[in-house]
Amino acid sequence: MKKEILRFLGRGSDLSDEQNCAFFTQENELVLIGCGVTAFHKLRRFGLKTLAGTSDADVTVLVTHTHSAHTGGIPMLIHYVYCMLHKKVTVIAPSAEVADDLRLLMGRLNGCEDDAYDIITADRAGRNWLVHSIPTAHSPELEGRCFGYHLLINGEKVIYTGDTAVIEPFLPYLTTGCFLYSDAAASPTTIHIKAEELVRKTVGHGIRLYLMHTDDEETLSAYIKEPYIRFAPLFEDKQ
Ligand SMILES: [Zn+2]
Ligand SMILES: [Zn+2]
Repeated sequence: MKKEILRFLGRGSDLSDEQNCAFFTQENELVLIGCGVTAFHKLRRFGLKTLAGTSDADVTVLVTHTHSAHTGGIPMLIHYVYCMLHKKVTVIAPSAEVADDLRLLMGRLNGCEDDAYDIITADRAGRNWLVHSIPTAHSPELEGRCFGYHLLINGEKVIYTGDTAVIEPFLPYLTTGCFLYSDAAASPTTIHIKAEELVRKTVGHGIRLYLMHTDDEETLSAYIKEPYIRFAPLFEDKQ
């Protein structure tokens, strides 16, 4: 089977034991898409070498929005990488406003040393794998501060919704063969897109659809009958 583009340290919704966190490696860089507390603990347990293939990898966190399940582990990650691995973490924010929020979280609230991390915005990141952020709607409290991403990983087009209540912002980017990783809820909710709506609005685009941020996989498994729909692949330590 073809190698997975993204793998996940968890694919659960915010209050689950395995909060959603995708990762990939490009060149010498391990990129986490968000980092909740459970993702941080998994990274520490597995170690950089297991996840990235080398202990020398640089560590980057690509932020979609600031809900704690997606950022709560970042200050701990920065402390850990700085003190134990003697490296700086790079945090990429989707916009200047979110970058300001993250500076408050890392510096003022968590006391991360200035030397321990860099915060940059997606449009200035200068990464070959990062095409651009995609604004979306998620929680009213974070209006204007929630984003997905258009990525290019191993030559494959990847659309990553982050947490989203709507799929419309992402539809213009869906082309045949692309990978769509999307939030998918089984339960009624106003801040996460329901799986039924997601599948109905994306069918026929010729995409590969991966369900993530799941709240009830038993119910969601009804959608996995279609061959182009799968659950986001969890990382398994093969060593
Ligand atoms: Zn979430
Ligand atoms: Zn959220």
